[in-house]
Amino acid sequence: MSEVRVRIAPSPSGNLHVGTARTALFNYLFAKKNNGKFVLRIEDTDAERTSQEYVDNIFDSLKALGLNWDEGPDVGGNYGPYTQSERFDIYPKYIQELLDKGFAYECFCTPEELEAEKEEATANKKAYVYSKKCENLTDEEKAKLRAEGRKPAIRFNVAKAQKAFHESSILKFDDLVKGELQMDTNLIGDFVIMKSNGAPTYNYAVVIDDALMKITHVIRGEDHISNTYKQILIFEALGFEVPRFGHLGMILAPDRSKLSKRHGATAVSDFVEQGYLTEALVNFVALLGWAPSDGEEVKPVDAIAADFRIGEISSSNSIFEYDKLRWMNSHYIKMLPMDTLKEMLKPYLTRYDLTELSDEQFTKMVEITREPLTLLSDITEAVPYFFGQDVEIDPEVQTEVLDLEESQKVLNDFVEKAQTWEWTEENLHNKLEEFRGTWKEQGIKPKATMWAIRAAVSGRTRGADMVGLLEVLGKERTIHRAQKSCKVAK
Ligand code: GLU
Repeated sequence: MSEVRVRIAPSPSGNLHVGTARTALFNYLFAKKNNGKFVLRIEDTDAERTSQEYVDNIFDSLKALGLNWDEGPDVGGNYGPYTQSERFDIYPKYIQELLDKGFAYECFCTPEELEAEKEEATANKKAYVYSKKCENLTDEEKAKLRAEGRKPAIRFNVAKAQKAFHESSILKFDDLVKGELQMDTNLIGDFVIMKSNGAPTYNYAVVIDDALMKITHVIRGEDHISNTYKQILIFEALGFEVPRFGHLGMILAPDRSKLSKRHGATAVSDFVEQGYLTEALVNFVALLGWAPSDGEEVKPVDAIAADFRIGEISSSNSIFEYDKLRWMNSHYIKMLPMDTLKEMLKPYLTRYDLTELSDEQFTKMVEITREPLTLLSDITEAVPYFFGQDVEIDPEVQTEVLDLEESQKVLNDFVEKAQTWEWTEENLHNKLEEFRGTWKEQGIKPKATMWAIRAAVSGRTRGADMVGLLEVLGKERTIHRAQKSCKVAK
């Protein structure tokens, strides 16, 4: 069997969407599983809708997800993507071949004429199919139209190709995901394969590229099924081997509508900016339509690749559960080695002066605040009290904790005792224990004792481990803040 070759072929009309990321991932997994090759092709034939910014975003996002492609033009020692706009000299040759073989013809219809045809179909409640008005123009007629200044588009002759390669008008193919699919090609109008300005259309360029790049399996979203029939006919008309096709179900939002920005992030780069780890995103996206054989959902991409079977992809739509992604993300954050996590958190700590902390203090701060992080960005709001001499006290914490008489007693005592404490982890642990004990004897619950101290030094009633917190704050700052919360100055 020939080498498995798959591709992801995004159009750069937006940032890389997670749906495209999933398609890319499934192609990548299929290639890995079969020792094949994964190719990136930028489909930018529609110049008006594309931009370099999006090309860069697609490039960077795929790389960030670890979905590296296996070949491409050389750019500074790395593989660049294949880009359709750089291949424009390739496409006319095959247009000529289709014209010569009678599988394509020139169409001189103006946009107004085509619009009128469409309106008529709508008025008659019929699905619009091009009238084939230009199919049999004579050379004289064409010359006359050209002399009027009209430039022809090229249309593919669907019925002719269908007749040449199939017994009836029904075109069937065996989809890798959905099983046998079929369509009556009489319902496909003769579609444009090259615009009058010479630009190839998607359905045409994709076939030429897939054929020349020797793509063996085309795995993509099910919104492309109707294109597949057109593409199969072009492959056949040019005598190219037809690849296998596999169409993935769509990704829907939790409310079952199309996933869009109003549901949350949709672009990979937005997820990353919000503090999702690309490993979590890849793992989560793999589960949209595929399930691991051992039921163990948290899996690195290599393990997923080893287990991946395309025939087991669900043919139905998948729901994008943001809650599940958040859960998975928190799991991946927990698994990060400390040094990696520290580096990854830094972009979310730019509002603080990190030079206030020694590396040891920074490590400690992360150690005691990482547990509840769901997103890397959660760190921003989790740590303000580790910075600055003073701390901002939440008004509710002031009235409900610090203003209480018992809290005041505890704090006054704390300020006095803490002066004598040696500020090491072990000692702080023991001293706090002891301190709680003495107040317990006086009828104050250990929880209330700790609350008061925490409220004074962090301005909050909840948060990082107390010993660690005091350690990072240091003796001087801890006592300073506790003292500030004492109503009667000590
Ligand atoms: N360029 C197409 C898109 O972004 C994909 C084409 C394909 O996979 O065949 O939807």
